[in-house]
Parts: sequence; structure tokens; C-alpha cells
Amino acid sequence: MRSYSLIAPAKINLYLEILGDRPDGYHELVMVMQSVDLADRVDLRSNSTETMRVHCDHPLVPNDTSNLAYRAAYLMSQQFPQAFAQLGAVDITIHKQIPVGAGLAGGSTNAAAVLMGLNLLWELGLTQPEIQELGAQLGSDVPFCVAGGTALATGRGEKLDTLPDLDKLHVVLAKYRSLSVSTPWAYQTYRQQFESSYLRETTAQVNRRREVHSGAMLSAIAHRDSTQIGQLLHNDLEKVVLPHHPKVAELQKRFRESQPLGTMMSGSGPTVFALTHTQAEAQQLSDQMRSAIADPDLELWVAQFSHCGIHIAQ
Ligand code: ATP
Repeated sequence: MRSYSLIAPAKINLYLEILGDRPDGYHELVMVMQSVDLADRVDLRSNSTETMRVHCDHPLVPNDTSNLAYRAAYLMSQQFPQAFAQLGAVDITIHKQIPVGAGLAGGSTNAAAVLMGLNLLWELGLTQPEIQELGAQLGSDVPFCVAGGTALATGRGEKLDTLPDLDKLHVVLAKYRSLSVSTPWAYQTYRQQFESSYLRETTAQVNRRREVHSGAMLSAIAHRDSTQIGQLLHNDLEKVVLPHHPKVAELQKRFRESQPLGTMMSGSGPTVFALTHTQAEAQQLSDQMRSAIADPDLELWVAQFSHCGIHIAQ
């Protein structure tokens, strides 16, 4: 086949705890990641040239070599020079649905789609762990985006333990269109403010990881206890992003008034999500937010938990 269309889902973080620094300059994290069915479509088409090209008509997404999808294609061309020489480059078209700079791993999931797509197009026969290993070179969230579903992510976020699929909870996502948060800024600011509470010893980090592993959130997930999951949502980065962006804190306050299962900022934000049992509750919550906040800059999406990572479009 000369072309593939792939669905690239966004993720939310049900849990994000920062344990401390790593020697490589990143943070040591414990996260629970969850795919949702808000997704981009990534089309790959052989162009029979030596030039990888990327196109996305979203104004905030670069159409050059800095696009994470391009970087994924370039990595594949370097890793598999024979396939690249024989079968040539691809045109990558990204149909953006996932908001940009939103804490939903939009760029990472596009990169994951390109890795999966070129594996198919070039008939490389790579396994999912092999694709994830390549993905880790591009970004910490890429390995999760490849597999999707529900997972415990440790290290920089690239070490994954699959967790049981959850019931398909519904989720309302809220983000101000003109507001985005840089992930490096969020982590750097967190370090400036909270470095004194970091776990410095490797053994202390290992012990804390074990505690989370055997703790309340993972137990709630194992029992598919949606009420508990909603109550145990946690994100350390809220401590720096919410005070800096009062409008984001306000979104969470408004969500809380409607008593969803739970509400939290995703990743480094500024997207805030709220969980509900049913689609009707999610739609009602979204409508309530729309009436409560009469700001045309506010965007809302109703989505659902997904068990899928990157998959071929039907
Ligand atoms: P994460 O949750 O992984 O931290 P994010 O959702 O906060 O990511 P992205 O949407 O991935 O953020 O965008 C972050 C930056 O990356 C933006 O400034 C954007 O211009 C750039 N970028 C590069 N490639 C892409 C892509 N394919 N899609 C979206 N943004 C991209």
C-alpha cells in the first residue's frame, strides 16, 4: 500500500507526581496516563522522493523540520536507510483536532502515528516495544501514545506498565483557545519552587514509586472504581500552573460546582478535564460550562476514555 491514514488519540493524566531530579536533567515522574477519543488523523503518502514533507493547517503547528511528526519520519529514515532508499519519503498531512500546547500530547501522538505508519508502509515488521523504544528518542510521551489505553508511566514517562482497561468514562475537556503552556516552563518553574521537597536518594524514589504502585489510585483502577478514581485525581503541576493562570483555576472551580466524578488539569495544562459516568452527563456539564463562562475564547470537547493507541482509520 502507498498510503495510510492513522488515528492518533490524545491523552490525559489521571495522576502526575514529580519525585525529583534525574541526572539527565529531566524529572523522575510517576503518572497514570489515559487515552481519550479526541484524536488527530495523520495521513502518510509515499511521495517517491528523498524529501520528507509535513503539512498541517493549524496556525500553531510548524510545517518544517521542527514538527515532531517530521522528526519521527527523519528518525525512521536514519534507522532504516535501506527501506528509505528503496521506498522513498512520505508526505505527512496532520488533520488537527487536538488543541496545541494543551497538555494532551498532541505532538507526541502525531510522532507515534508516523512511527507506526512508516513501519507499515515500509513493511519493517517492528514490534510495538521496538516502535516504543524509537519513540522514546523523540519525547517522553511518545511510547505511551503508541500503545494507548491506561498505563502507569515512570522514569521520564517512557517506562510503561499496562493497567487494566477502564470502563469507558466520559470526559469534558476545557481550554482557552488563546492560552497554551510550555511544558519546559511548567517543569522549570516547579523545580524553582519545590526543589527542596525533591527525593534525592534513588532508594527514596524507588520506595515512593512502590507506594504509588500499591496505593489507592492503582487499587481504584484495578477495581474499576470510577468514583474513587475521580476523587484520587492528582497533578503536581497544578501547583505552578494554576496560580500563574487564574482563568484555568476558575475553570476547575466551575467544573467542581457541577459535582462531576472529579476534575483536574492534564499534564502541564492548560486543559482542565472533568469525568462523568455517561455521555448525557458530560454533554450537560459542557453546556453548563458554556452558559457559566460566556467567553468565546473557551473551547469545550466531550470525549470518552479509549482503549486504543495509534490505529488505522476505518
Ligand atoms: P505534552 O502534553 O506532550 O507536553 P502538549 O499537548 O502540551 O504536549 P503539543 O500540542 O504537543 O503540546 O505542542 C507543543 C509544541 O510543539 C507547540 O508549540 C507546537 O508548535 C510544537 N509542535 C511540533 N510538532 C507538533 C505537532 N505535530 N502537533 C502539535 N504541536 C507540535
